This record gives sequence, C-alpha cells and structure tokens, in this order.
Amino acid sequence: MIIIARNDRQRPEWICLFLDLVISIRYAIFNTTNGYEFAMKDFNTLLQESSIAHGHLCPGQVVGVRMAMLGCRLIGLDEPSRHDQIKKILVYVEMDRCTADAVAHVTGVKLGRRSLKFMDYGIMAATFVNLESPKSFRVVSTEESRDLVTEYAPEIQGKSRQQLTAYQRMPDSVLFRVQEVRVPLNELDLPGPTRRKAVCAVCGQVIRDGKEVRQNNQILCRPCTGQSYFTDAREITWPDMNRSPVNQHKPVIGKIAPNSSE
Ligand SMILES: [Zn+2]
Ligand SMILES: [Zn+2]
Repeated sequence: MIIIARNDRQRPEWICLFLDLVISIRYAIFNTTNGYEFAMKDFNTLLQESSIAHGHLCPGQVVGVRMAMLGCRLIGLDEPSRHDQIKKILVYVEMDRCTADAVAHVTGVKLGRRSLKFMDYGIMAATFVNLESPKSFRVVSTEESRDLVTEYAPEIQGKSRQQLTAYQRMPDSVLFRVQEVRVPLNELDLPGPTRRKAVCAVCGQVIRDGKEVRQNNQILCRPCTGQSYFTDAREITWPDMNRSPVNQHKPVIGKIAPNSSE
C-alpha cells in the first residue's frame, strides 16, 4: 500500500480511491515485474548483438547482458534504448571490463548522453536508475557463481567455454545479488544540455557541469589542482599539424540532433 500526502477533508472519498489506484498501477509497472509484459528483446538476440558491438563473445557478455536485463526489469524499463525510455535511465557501472560493454549495449546508455556513469570501483556490479521512480537497484555478480561453474556445465571442457555455458544456465539468484539502493542525484550529473560552465583561473580551460574545484578562493580545473591522472604535461607541436579532413573532402552535412551543440 502506498501512502500519499493529501488533504482528505478537501477531496471526496472516490477521488482519493481513484488516485490510490492510479498510483498503485504506476508503482506496479515501474517498480515490479508483476503482471507487466516485457517487450525487451530475448536473451539470445541481445547476447549476439552485444558480442558484435563488443568485438567477441565472452563470459562477461553473458553476465553483462543478464545483469542489464535484470536491472531493467527491476526498474520497469523494457526497451531502455527506445526514444520514450532513453531519457529515463541512468546506469552506474563499477568496472571497466567486458561486462560493462554488455550492460551499456543492452541498456543503450552512453557516456556521451551522460546516462552511463563509470565508477572505478573494480567491482562486477551495476546500479540501474529510473529517473521517474524512487527505487534504484544495484546488481552484483556473485563470487559463488564463479565457484559453481563446474556444477552448471560439467560436460564442457575449458574454463572460458565452461563459464560461457554455466552463466547462461544459472538462475539469476545464483548469478547475482541485488540491493535496493538510493542514488542521490545532482542536477549537474543528469542528461541534457550543459547546465554550468566555469573557467579555470590558472589555465583558462572551460570546465563543464560543475566539475570545477575551489581551492584558496580560486576556481580551478582538476589538472591544475595537481590531482589528475597524468603528470608532466607540456604543449607540443606535431608534423602535419594543419591537416583537416575538409582539405581533402567536402564537409559532411546531415541532420543534426537537437541540443547537440558543444
Ligand atoms: Zn569480452
Ligand atoms: Zn586549469
């Protein structure tokens, strides 16, 4: 039962009941799989497509496709890359391995759309967020599933091939643990046009989306704070530095997506 804030004295009983019904239906659709027909492509198709996009078929593709299918089911999105759903989904992936590519492929999330968030935790897990639903789910690939590979594919030779088959046979409950989590969202992290630009006081670089750092009353870009992933940066020139594709070819003219300016 869902409790909604309302003033019962001002509304007749039937309106309150109707509101409860609408919200309950919405809750059922967006938060559970009960009674909701999913139109998502089948596992085999998704695995095939994901492996092509990734470059090879591997156990990570199996785990990633299943992780994404489960995550989408939990947040109530059946075709996350379809136009009406693509704006609702955010996925946080916690590893930069094969599985991450499969999760991104199945869900359609992309760095360039700001719907794919890479958290460098080294954990085989991903969190699925439906921006229209209060509940988010973190799906974690279990270590037990690795130990159980021989049980689920005893007839297969070779570790990778055995994993490939076993991870398709295991039930979701063996392959994954699921946590319901809260993901505090910052408006600056959401998809959509750039919401804020700042200029680095040291190097003049424009920093987008609130990623600037304040230090000693100055606004700095991350590299200028000295806390970046690279060191010893120095500007260089390079051979053919005035080359441009348009020197040899005509510019490509085509349909441009709305709000796609840099
Ligand atoms: Zn792979
Ligand atoms: Zn700077």
